Amino acid sequence: MTDFSATKSLFHIPKGLVYLNGNSLGMLPKSAASRARAVIEHEWGEMLGRSWNDAQWMQLPERLGNLIAPLIGAPEASVVVGDTLSIKLYQALASALALNPNRRVILSDNGNFPTDLYIAEGLMKTLDRGYVLKTPAPQEVESLLDERVAVLMLTQVDYRTGRMHDMRRITELAHKAGALVIWDLAHSAGAVPVDLAACNADFAVGCSYKYLNGGPGAPAFIYVRPDRVNSARPALPGWLGHATPFAFARHYTPAADISRMRVGSPAVIQMAVLEEAMKVWEGVDMAAVRRRSIALCEQFIAAVEARCPLLELASPRNSAERGSQVSFKFAGGYAVIQALSARGVIADFRAPDILRFGFTPLYIGRDEVDIAAAALAEVMATKAWDQPQFHSRKPVT
Ligand SMILES: *Cc1c(COP(=O)(O)O)cnc(C)c1O
Repeated sequence: MTDFSATKSLFHIPKGLVYLNGNSLGMLPKSAASRARAVIEHEWGEMLGRSWNDAQWMQLPERLGNLIAPLIGAPEASVVVGDTLSIKLYQALASALALNPNRRVILSDNGNFPTDLYIAEGLMKTLDRGYVLKTPAPQEVESLLDERVAVLMLTQVDYRTGRMHDMRRITELAHKAGALVIWDLAHSAGAVPVDLAACNADFAVGCSYKYLNGGPGAPAFIYVRPDRVNSARPALPGWLGHATPFAFARHYTPAADISRMRVGSPAVIQMAVLEEAMKVWEGVDMAAVRRRSIALCEQFIAAVEARCPLLELASPRNSAERGSQVSFKFAGGYAVIQALSARGVIADFRAPDILRFGFTPLYIGRDEVDIAAAALAEVMATKAWDQPQFHSRKPVT
């Protein structure tokens, strides 16, 4: 049993706000603010460099990895935290390509997040060994798994539409074809149950500022399947991934465990905040989160489709194929999102025409869904969105 009114009470919820954007930036867990203050004022301000040992700053990346691991079905000591998702993906892809050296195709899909594809292309240029990146439509990925594919690199839940790949099935097919598999769990960790061990994925990466509520700029995580970790070349051989960083050896020897995926100094303040944010997951059952997420998404879809004929559902209708967000298509989508924001309902827009609504059961319930759907219906019915102030584009959508 997961008590969602208890989890909600752990978050700071601005008065009058309905927040359906936790898929982009999770809300602030109340205790994270006091933890940040303590880290800054006491651990940094008073204890200074002694905190590397006395406050165990140096072990934060592994400690956080162990807090995230249960949410993604990863065993103890198989996840480490640091840097950004873009960087962790670079490391995973470079390692995976090196583990499958005779093949030249990187397979992804055309719904993948731009940074994932840019990072892959950048790495391919650096390696300069004739790699090809294929980005078919998501439903065509399986048919392209052949003996040329070195690495299958997919994001499980599509950031635009919420469409969800079947991780277990695709991983198995990829392994049969002799490819290694990297999953990007940016929109999965804390959103849907993930079982990396059961699907035998080789690598996984994700971020902690979305459903894990680690705050803006919170660090990423990387998982390496335990039997692969000692052959996975870290690609960015930073000093803190060294077997003995404080020997300051002239030559690099990777740590014999997941710590080899560390690069440089940990972002201590941000990591301390994330450590506090992870406490909200204590006693939370991901299966219960998933059930409630599906119920909230279905409630929203039904309410919006009944009242907003101009909005076209862009997410899969079948909840089994959808993550924890619902998207609609509308040419004036940007202005609609702005008009909703003026009414205290926060969602976001993804070019060219997607309105995105994230459902985070830890702090969103049926009442918020009703309020949001009513506001959206009013904005659409009155054409309130079509006012000049809602059309001017801000840099971040
Ligand atoms: C959010 C997201 C990112 C963001 O990467 P950062 O390096 O953290 O900015 C990357 N990939 C996917 C699939 C995402 O959803």
